[in-house]
Amino acid sequence: MIDRQALRHNIQAEVGRLKAGCDLFMVVKANGYGHGAAQVARVAKEAGASGFCVAILDEALELRAAGFNEPILILGVTRPQDAPLMAAQKISATVAATDWLAEAAKYLALAPTKAPLRVHLGLDTGMGRIGFRTPDALKTATDFMTTHSTEFIFEGIFTHFSTADDPDDRYFKGQVAKWHALVDTLPHRPRYVHVSNSATSLWHDACNDNLVRFGVAGYGLNPSGEAIPQTPYPLEPAMSLTSELVYTKQLHAGESVSYGATYTAQQDEWVGTVPIGYADGYERRLQGFHVLVAGQFCEIIGRVCMDQMMIRLPQAYQRGTKVTLVGRDGDQTIRLQDLADYCGTIHYELACGFTDRLPRHYI
Ligand code: PLP
Repeated sequence: MIDRQALRHNIQAEVGRLKAGCDLFMVVKANGYGHGAAQVARVAKEAGASGFCVAILDEALELRAAGFNEPILILGVTRPQDAPLMAAQKISATVAATDWLAEAAKYLALAPTKAPLRVHLGLDTGMGRIGFRTPDALKTATDFMTTHSTEFIFEGIFTHFSTADDPDDRYFKGQVAKWHALVDTLPHRPRYVHVSNSATSLWHDACNDNLVRFGVAGYGLNPSGEAIPQTPYPLEPAMSLTSELVYTKQLHAGESVSYGATYTAQQDEWVGTVPIGYADGYERRLQGFHVLVAGQFCEIIGRVCMDQMMIRLPQAYQRGTKVTLVGRDGDQTIRLQDLADYCGTIHYELACGFTDRLPRHYI
């Protein structure tokens, strides 16, 4: 279940904190972090987002096909031969190297539409992923765009911080210094100058420049996990996950459950089968974790299968009884963060790992 009111609350709260003239683009890559890209984009737009960020061209085209006319920035590296398609669709490309521009220019010059490509230059200030690293390399790129002004619009420049969610801000400050050493060499600033993901905007808002790329906090998840518990406004998680018991039985002492027979009942006990497994993105590593039935924690016993798993029940329950895997039931709550802690990963990975087989219901 995806709670649109929670999405709206988080995004509106963030928009309300931004200084005048600062835009928010909602990051809806990876199917809106598993929440549904177009649905999230719709709510984000109502809540004050003026554009979107995605990771790949297909995700941008999906938003255009869904009728969104707002700016869309692709954060990853695209193929130069797709430059004419991006230009025609008014989709902005991240550019991390001048040879990319040179190759794209050839395709753009040959394209019948003659539309210019909107470019955001990526600067690598310490993330070590993509981007220009020196003032000379940056100047070569901006000079190239100046001499190819029919093919390119220099629309934005940005960097990405790797430790903005860490209470220790030493590395972060080093990145800020490198960012200034690069961006301050520009004779003219483009329309969008941006450095902030959720963590940067929540905890380092002095350097917001004029655009925030707002991702995980919009979905109501703390970007730091629990390293920095305080947020400027309460984050409301939008995603919950429920299923139901499809089969129950009494297991007798000595009987085992699931592949590998890794769980054996020590006494007679009630067991329920839940039709969800690792093919749905419910990780195999969650064996031994718990779900909620009637407000009580129930252990996941035996291996999580591809499509089903078993839980130990405190008593007999009817087929069809609700099972909460993420969310609240009675007085108890299971957060995506709890699953992530158990799996030794981050909630981002779990959220975007839930597959299409799980129907998303929007409330
Ligand atoms: N900007 C860039 C370049 C990203 O790669 C991401 C996500 O990975 C974001 C912004 C959004 O980050 P967050 O979800 O932490 O807000």
